[in-house]
Amino acid sequence: MNVTRLRTVQVFTATIRLTSPGGVMAPQSTPILGEATGISGPDAVPVVELGNGSVMPGTTLAGSFRQHLQSRGVGDTDLVRLMGRGGQDPNASRLCVLGGRTPDRGDQGFLDEHSTAVDRYRGAARESTKRHVRRLPPGTEFITFWLLENPTPGESAVVSEALGTWHPLLGSSVTNGRGDSQVVEVRTGTLDLSDERDLLLYLTHHGPELCTVVATDEVAIADPEPRATIVIPLRIVEPLHFGTGETTQSTTRPRVNLVVRMGQDLVIPGRSVRGILRSRLDYMLHTLGLADCPEQRCGVCLSCELFGFTSPTGGRRASVRILDSAVRDARTETLEHVAIDRFTGGAKDSALFTDEVIIEGTFDVVIERLDPPSDAWRLLEALVRLVAQDLHEGFVRLGGGASRGYGRVELAPEPAAGPRLMPLDQAQHTMSTFVGSRRP
Ligand SMILES: [Zn+2]
Repeated sequence: MNVTRLRTVQVFTATIRLTSPGGVMAPQSTPILGEATGISGPDAVPVVELGNGSVMPGTTLAGSFRQHLQSRGVGDTDLVRLMGRGGQDPNASRLCVLGGRTPDRGDQGFLDEHSTAVDRYRGAARESTKRHVRRLPPGTEFITFWLLENPTPGESAVVSEALGTWHPLLGSSVTNGRGDSQVVEVRTGTLDLSDERDLLLYLTHHGPELCTVVATDEVAIADPEPRATIVIPLRIVEPLHFGTGETTQSTTRPRVNLVVRMGQDLVIPGRSVRGILRSRLDYMLHTLGLADCPEQRCGVCLSCELFGFTSPTGGRRASVRILDSAVRDARTETLEHVAIDRFTGGAKDSALFTDEVIIEGTFDVVIERLDPPSDAWRLLEALVRLVAQDLHEGFVRLGGGASRGYGRVELAPEPAAGPRLMPLDQAQHTMSTFVGSRRP
């Protein structure tokens, strides 16, 4: 590896604001302790530094920034020069990403997310899958710090422009609608180390402090380019219940199984919709003879390509994400049920349970494309239109309690502007052409 003498250092600070709940998560050990001690806490919390400010690790930023450079057409050679390379033939990166932190330490508050996994076959919450994740709320800002060593004018421009047009997805669960971020301010400055004053500054300041002192020139920010989306507008017809695994705490009245909320909003979780959508899509692909992937990790079918998979030998991140959607004009009710004893067929003693349900409202299922346009995305547009029809006709229900008659929705009128669903006949034609092309 060549060691080049440092002649100039260009520094950047970029302020990044979360526009959906997010953060890089650290698993917690309290839930395990909890069983023995009675202390319970979240399963995962945002990474913090000493002093309780939240942290955005440099590796998280660097991975996402590398993808952004690629999508802006920066070639492999330039990419390795800037961002480095590991493996057999390592190359140090000249752009050092020092990471970021929240400027106001620890007083940004948190959002607590409770969820359970839904059983694919029964449509009900699976036992022992209750999960409590603490996330940073939308609006949280990170100041991030960057150092570029000996940049050419071209490289300097590439990094400045890329920072100014960056629209990153950062942290965990981004394919479930977390981690949307927006760059709201970029500043830069350069030190010429042959100049005595600059050299002194360089020697007496380090890392984030150096960046803050030197980066004083503002870099232009561009509006983020919207991602391609598919939107299914839906109206609630029969009670809808996406549970969190949480109940009300009353000891005198029956506890109520609560639905998902985000702040004041009732929310249809993208994570759950994703499971339902994928199951239905897998079923269609299977019946059309296009896939046989019951474990959802064959790695070669269309569904694995779109929704990602994990396997012992690798895996692939999803190329689409499904956002949480707030229910508009929502009205809720509580419904009481009696659990039936499976053997006697009668009511079980003291087995009254109560669900909070949403009985009115409209919402949009929003699917965003993360990768460049592809045949798979075009096929997804057709498949989603077919699933939307199944929802409309009641063959597919959303949320828990399908056996209690919950979860019926219908297609709502599409708004005048914005993305439109593929017409039904076009979706059918697209799929029949695709099936034909796959048959020998
Ligand atoms: Zn598969």
